[in-house]
Amino acid sequence: MTLEESQEPNQLHFLVIPMGSPDHYIPTIDMAKLLAQHGVRITIVTTPVKAFRFGSILDQAIQSGLPIYFLEFMFSYKEFGLPEGCESMDDLPHLGLGRTLMQAYTSLQKQVEEYIEKLNPRPNCILADTFLLWTGETAKKFQIPRIIFDGMNCFTQMCNHVLYLSKVYESVGESEPFVLPDLPDRIELTRSQHPFAFNSSFKGMSDFNEKLQVSESEAYGVIVNSFEELEQGYVDEYQKLKRDKVWCIGPLSLCHKDESEKVRRGKKSSIHKNECLKWLDSQENSSVIYACLGSVSRIEPAQLIELALALESSKRPFIWVVRAGHKTEKIEKWIDEEGFEERTKDRGLLIHGWAPQLLILSHPAIEGFLTHCGWNSTLEGVSAGVPLVTWPQFQEQFYNEKLVVQVLKVGVSVGAQKTVWGDEDKSGEVVKREEFIKAIEMVMEEGEEGEERRKRAKEFGKMANKAIEEGGSSRQNITRLIQDIRFQSSTRNLS
Ligand code: UDP
Repeated sequence: MTLEESQEPNQLHFLVIPMGSPDHYIPTIDMAKLLAQHGVRITIVTTPVKAFRFGSILDQAIQSGLPIYFLEFMFSYKEFGLPEGCESMDDLPHLGLGRTLMQAYTSLQKQVEEYIEKLNPRPNCILADTFLLWTGETAKKFQIPRIIFDGMNCFTQMCNHVLYLSKVYESVGESEPFVLPDLPDRIELTRSQHPFAFNSSFKGMSDFNEKLQVSESEAYGVIVNSFEELEQGYVDEYQKLKRDKVWCIGPLSLCHKDESEKVRRGKKSSIHKNECLKWLDSQENSSVIYACLGSVSRIEPAQLIELALALESSKRPFIWVVRAGHKTEKIEKWIDEEGFEERTKDRGLLIHGWAPQLLILSHPAIEGFLTHCGWNSTLEGVSAGVPLVTWPQFQEQFYNEKLVVQVLKVGVSVGAQKTVWGDEDKSGEVVKREEFIKAIEMVMEEGEEGEERRKRAKEFGKMANKAIEEGGSSRQNITRLIQDIRFQSSTRNLS
């Protein structure tokens, strides 16, 4: 059946183009599902390996009759010097290949344009990952509004914006704290805690960042995985900056309602759902600390050992997701030689590989989440109403830490001082066991401060769920977005 035959009259059609990194494609797929639930026809551009991963996530959605379709294109691994099948940041042999991976995504441009060329009617909107700069050219060529998504919140967008404008970071030393100007809160960080664009240790990134700035300024609008009540002051500022073309439609992860959906998200889980639930069910309510450090970070084994020993010393039940990219073998060897898993098995569950994070976070046994502060994980923790132990590693993760610890007051920092980026980690910067223990204790303690933090976390969890319900702010923003694109399309047809 051709698109013309299968598309309902007046049905909007969005072409969704995700990037190859779990922190980007997981929320993009959630977004696609949400839009399809609102009647929008969705075509997702994908590549062979990602198609396989997405398949399991969206099977259920498609089976339930949602208008979601895939378009699988070839990916030029060899031409760009990437290993066969390597399409995603978490597959890279080392993180230094990140830019090469992004360049390899340009191999999709010609294929996407040939597809659009043949379409009648043309898609009403291109919803593309911010980092795929070529989608800007494609959108211009076919005069289709491009909406971008970069997986960050409005707080981060505003931090980045004031830094670009003021350039205050240029006149300070690496470890000298300075205040980010003109923000609703007093946010102070050192230069070495900033994203690559402002961090002098990552000079090679400035060229790409300049292009990114231009590309973002040319986009029609931005979708944000956040909800207005969480960061209202920053949403308002960002709306001003983007001339009201910002749509906060999150938390996106809350589109997964039942256990089987939660367990299928992102990648195949390394633990069976029943085994995971059996372990969680066997723990007391509000007793477990869950430690997971995202999808791409490759933390040094020496550093992970400090974390493992802290979890052991904390004397609380814990789940630790063991994964460190190509360094995983080393940490697994240590676990084996130390007999760590055996020795902690009465109250510790180790997940070797990919954890069903949403399933775990929504279980009543979870009391705290030790996170690297990737925005997806942070927001998933906030949505689950649990306080966070924050251990940022790189990019905007230090901003996210500031948001949860200082602004929302639902987290405790382990005190990380500087950006650590995978294989380029030569800093020897190690957060000590005692610092992890201290932060875990503060989050889990039963005193007044801990109780207040838990209460606030629960409140934000409730607000998050309300935002996506009928009449909630995020639900309304999806409607607003769809109306906007419908209006755009009708005026284009008239002209
Ligand atoms: N995730 C997961 N299981 C894992 C690790 C990560 O389901 O074992 C998911 C997590 O729920 C989140 C995403 O992967 O949606 C990671 O995104 P985030 O922005 O937190 O971190 P990053 O991938 O940038 O490190």
